[in-house]
This record gives sequence, structure tokens and C-alpha cells, in this order.
Amino acid sequence: MRNVCIAGNWKMNMTPSEGAAFAKALAEAVKDATVRVVVAPPFVTIASVVEAVDGSVIEVGAQNMSDQLSGAYTGEVSAPMLKETGVSIVILGHSERRALYGETDAFINRKVKLALEQDLDVILCVGETLEEREAGKLEEVLKRQVVEGLRDISAQSMARIIVAYEPVWAIGTGKTATPDDANSAHAFIRSEIDKLYGKSVAESLIIQYGGSVKPSNVKDLMAMEHIDGALVGGASLSVEQFAPIVRYNV
Ligand code: PEP
Repeated sequence: MRNVCIAGNWKMNMTPSEGAAFAKALAEAVKDATVRVVVAPPFVTIASVVEAVDGSVIEVGAQNMSDQLSGAYTGEVSAPMLKETGVSIVILGHSERRALYGETDAFINRKVKLALEQDLDVILCVGETLEEREAGKLEEVLKRQVVEGLRDISAQSMARIIVAYEPVWAIGTGKTATPDDANSAHAFIRSEIDKLYGKSVAESLIIQYGGSVKPSNVKDLMAMEHIDGALVGGASLSVEQFAPIVRYNV
């Protein structure tokens, strides 16, 4: 049995005070959760959320980080800054970062390596656009994002990596991949990890599904063999929506 991780990506929502109040209410609502629970607030909201969830089951993640450790990089936030603020895990390669900010696989790979060196876990996001899927390029795209995103990462470090499969056409659109479609993409990712690292790493890798996950579809998704959690955007901004997702098995 693989571990399960459910993470909420708040994107550019929640001021520090809003985030703290929300996180306190969420912590109470998911206190009996049996899975790893992560929330990823915007950078400036992280500190107040770390304080608010102290002693609860909730871990705090970041949505992004710099590919540099320190120096003249205006507007950037480094891995050591995140670590010292109480972050334990960072989302890298989200499709919005790839599409809106031009992040490439090589750039994302630099961040993955830096995060691991600085003792942060990583959620590496991969996924195809609708155009790529319709052109029959699903496996080609997933393979490239997995192989390039994990370049030079050791088998030992893979214990700190979660892969999130997020079909771009399902993010924030209300369209969810069917459990079967998601499961076959996850199985393909796991087979690529097997080729790179062998069976034992592949079998223990957590692969989250992301794309319009809601209380109404989480159980069907989580029932699939290769789906080990969820990365949730919109529904992570409401306790009424996110708590039942986290507690899908309680
Ligand atoms: C996301 O942005 O990672 C995401 C999955 O968003 P949503 O749940 O809103 O589709």
C-alpha cells in the first residue's frame, strides 16, 4: 500500500489574516485525517499559516521557489527562506508556471535539485494540454516532463518526490479526467519511473491527480490503482469542499 497525500494549492488567494483563519478552521475539520495533508499558500501568507496549523495534521507547502540560493534575483524567494519559515514541501512545474511564466523542464529540474539539497520535499507537476492530447502526444509529453524534470535525481532522493499528474485542460475548468483516463496516465508515469529507477521506487512513488477534484469525484478517483492522492486548486479554498476531499476515506 502506498502512502496518500492530498494537497491544496491556494494560488494567488488568501491574505495572511484570511489564510490563518482559514487554516485554523481547516485544521479542526480534518483533525481525524489519515493521509498526508498539505496546504500551499502564497509566499506572504506562509508564515501566518505555519503558526495557525502548529500542532495540527496540516503541513505547509510553497507554490514555487527560485532556482537560485541567494543573490541579486529581484522578486524571488529561495529554498532556505522557505525552509526557515516552516515549509516542508514545494510545488514545482505547475502548468500555470510553465504556460504563463515560460518555465522549461530544465529550469524546473534546477529547482527540483535545489529543493532536495535544501531538505524540502517536492511535488513535481506534469500534464498535457488539450492540443497535445488530441494530437496523440500524451505519452511523449509526460515522458519528457518526467525524464527532464527528474534528471540527475538519485533513486534515494525519489522518496522525497511526489509527482502530480494534472491534465492542463482539467485545471480550473470543471472538466475532470475520467478515473480510467487518469489511472492510465498514472500507470504510464509509474512505468517511466520503473525504467529510470526500478520497480521498488516506482511502486512506492506517490502520484497525485489534479484537475477539478471535488468531494463528488474524489472517491472514484482514489479508488483507482495508480492514484495516490490529489492536488486541489479551486476546491481547496473552501473548508466545506476541501475537508471532505481530505477525509474521503474516513
Ligand atoms: C491546480 O491548479 O493544481 C488544480 C488542480 O486546480 P483545480 O483543482 O481548480 O482544477
